[in-house]
Order: sequence, then structure tokens, then C-alpha cells
Amino acid sequence: MVNRFESLVCANCGRNYPTDTHSRCAKCNGILSAHYRLDGGFPTGGAQRGIWQFAEFLPPVREQNIVSLGEGWTPYVKAANYGRKIGLGNLWCKLEGCNPTGSFKDRAASLGLSLAREWRKRGVFTASSGNAAAAVSAYSARAGIRCLVLIRDDSPASKLSQITMYSPVLLRVRNLFESRSALEAAIEQTQLAVPDWLNHFIWAPFNPLLVDAFKTIAYEIALGREVPDYLFVPVAGGDLLFGLYKGFQELREMGRLDSLPKLVAVQGEGADPLVRAIEKGLDTVPDTEPPHTVAGALSVNFGAEYPIVAVRGTGGFGISVSDEEILRGQREIARHEGIFCEVSSATALAAISKAVKVGRIERDASAAAILTGSGFKDYYPIVSEASKIPLAESVSSIPRVLHAILDARADAARIN
Ligand SMILES: [Zn+2]
Repeated sequence: MVNRFESLVCANCGRNYPTDTHSRCAKCNGILSAHYRLDGGFPTGGAQRGIWQFAEFLPPVREQNIVSLGEGWTPYVKAANYGRKIGLGNLWCKLEGCNPTGSFKDRAASLGLSLAREWRKRGVFTASSGNAAAAVSAYSARAGIRCLVLIRDDSPASKLSQITMYSPVLLRVRNLFESRSALEAAIEQTQLAVPDWLNHFIWAPFNPLLVDAFKTIAYEIALGREVPDYLFVPVAGGDLLFGLYKGFQELREMGRLDSLPKLVAVQGEGADPLVRAIEKGLDTVPDTEPPHTVAGALSVNFGAEYPIVAVRGTGGFGISVSDEEILRGQREIARHEGIFCEVSSATALAAISKAVKVGRIERDASAAAILTGSGFKDYYPIVSEASKIPLAESVSSIPRVLHAILDARADAARIN
């Protein structure tokens, strides 16, 4: 297998950069993007499963340096029951919660730690609201490479519990994601404090090579049965959205796709700087007020321009959804399809429902939601439900309590 990587170049001015560059273009501040040779068709087979099936379209890593837990090739399932409920005949869900640590970030962590090994780095470093921290910590443990994680101080206990199991050096930082400048200052301070140890893999706010790990989601969808007309993507930083865009563009260039799905950027109301910028037709994303949304992984008040490029380049749009709509989406996809997704992932479902209702997408169109994480990631919002479950105080009281439950459900069904 021949690797197709050519160079890391500024998408704006075309200047070349070394492959381990983690910043923007020094000359024009443009984002850097990896270029690949796209002649010679697209592979449909390969010995490896998961994202490494597509290794020739990723930055070069020798096989012995690949750090993998079996990430990628997550289920892509039709959600006919939920689709019928919201009035859309053809609805699909990509279940990224099925990745090894429970979120789509595993794809990038696998690539990032493999590159760290390939480049003989001693330590990795990330700043995260939770899912990236878990993924990087897990893959670092597997790679035997030291890991330091800056985490926001209000991350849910369910996420922190998982991260601590992997034993990274973990530091909570108050107001870490308060603004882009706060995040950048935190990253800089950390690098200054431990310069020789943490010398690789600075994830936030943007890592130009790791975006390519998210391309593999586009590849998997294209190799499957159904490329949707619309693809709804929860957005915080926008790496996932941009990676999908890059993947679909490459597929079109290789003759695997006639047209790109329209990419829809989804955020929570109260934390939607990108959606507002798109709606105003801006080329940059102004900061907004401090974020408030039940979608914890999407709680941002700043953004970048590259997701705008992805949305515009496909004829998509941006849409915000309320806490109530998000929680309803999370509950209904579980109730009607058996899918327990992270509350932040449910923004995509809420957005599809809303887009159908207000006529932003046609009822005979096909749509898909990237469900970025598992429901086990962040279950605080529904933990209160446990106290509402009826209790049989003794074995002998089971029939009485059970009939009361079934009668109540029958009544509810009649009303609905
Ligand atoms: Zn440039």
C-alpha cells in the first residue's frame, strides 16, 4: 500500500509547512491542510478494519507504530421509527458512541498517538471538555506515552470518572474555555512550564493533521449504502464538520460521489456563535456572551471560520436548538430506536426534527445525524428520572405495582 500524503500546506496562500506544525500559517493566518494524491481510485477492501483501512489517505505512519483500539466503522443505522415520528421517511444515524472510549474523538486520538510514536515523541497534551480528554488519555495509555490534560472545571462527574481511570496528569482549569484567548493562554502557560516533556499533539483549538481522522466517517458513509442529502453535525470547534467536508470532497475528486451532502452545523441555543455567524453571512465568528446549553460538549462562545467554509461549500446551513428540544430528541431516539446517545449528540436529532417542521429540509429528502458520543458520557440531566421509577416494596407487591404501571401507560397512550 502506497501512502498518498503529499504535503501540509496553507489552504489560503499555499505555503508549505513541516508535518508536525500545530499552528496556523505564519504568513497569512490561514488554516493548514494536508494534501493527498487522489488519482488511482478509492480502495474498497484492505486487511485492516476501522480507520486504518484508509491508512493511505492519512498522514504516513508505519504499521508497527499504529496505536489502535479498533476505532471506526461505527454502525450506520436507519432510524425509521423516529423518522416517521418527525415526518421524515429516510433518516440515518451514525453511532460514534460505539467507539472504544465512547466518542468520535477516538478516531483522532488513534491517529494522534500513532503520529506521536512515529515521531518518537515523549509526551502528549490536550485541552478538552471531556471526550477528547478521555480519548487521548486512553490511547496514550495504550501507546505508553505520557499524557497531560487540561480540563474545564465544570466537566460532568461521569466524564471525569472515565478519564481518571486512564491515569493521565490531569489539571482542572477554571474558565478554560471562557474565550479563545483564555484557552490559548492556558496552552501557552502549560508549554512554558513543561517544555521538554509535553512536546507534541496540542489538540485545541486546531490540529491540521488530526482533522483527517474525521474524514474516515465520510469514507465509511460513502462505502455504505446511503449518502444522505443532508448531514447534521453537532459543532463546538468544528474539526469534525471540516473533516467530513474534506472527506466528501476527496471522494468526489476520486469519482466516488457525484455531489456532496449538504452539511448542517448544529449548536445549542445560548452557545451558538457559529450558527449566528452563518446566518449573518459573516466570514469570521465573533465571540458571543458566556455559553449556556444543556449540550455540555458544545458549550462554547467562540469559533473559527473553517466550519463556515464547509457549510457554504456544500450549500448547507446552521441551526440552533433549545435545551428542551435537545432533551426531547435524546429521549425519543432512545424510546423509538433503542439508541442512547450523549445529550450533545441529540442536538443533531433535535435539529433535524426542527428543520423538517419549519420546512428547511424537504420531507422526501434523506438526512443523517452524526451521534458523536454515548449516552453514558454525560447522563446528569436524566439521573433524576431514577427516583420516578415505581418501587415494589416486597416481592408480593409486584403484581399490584406492575398493573398500576401498565394501566398508567395505557392511559398515556390513549391521551397521545
Ligand atoms: Zn498562508
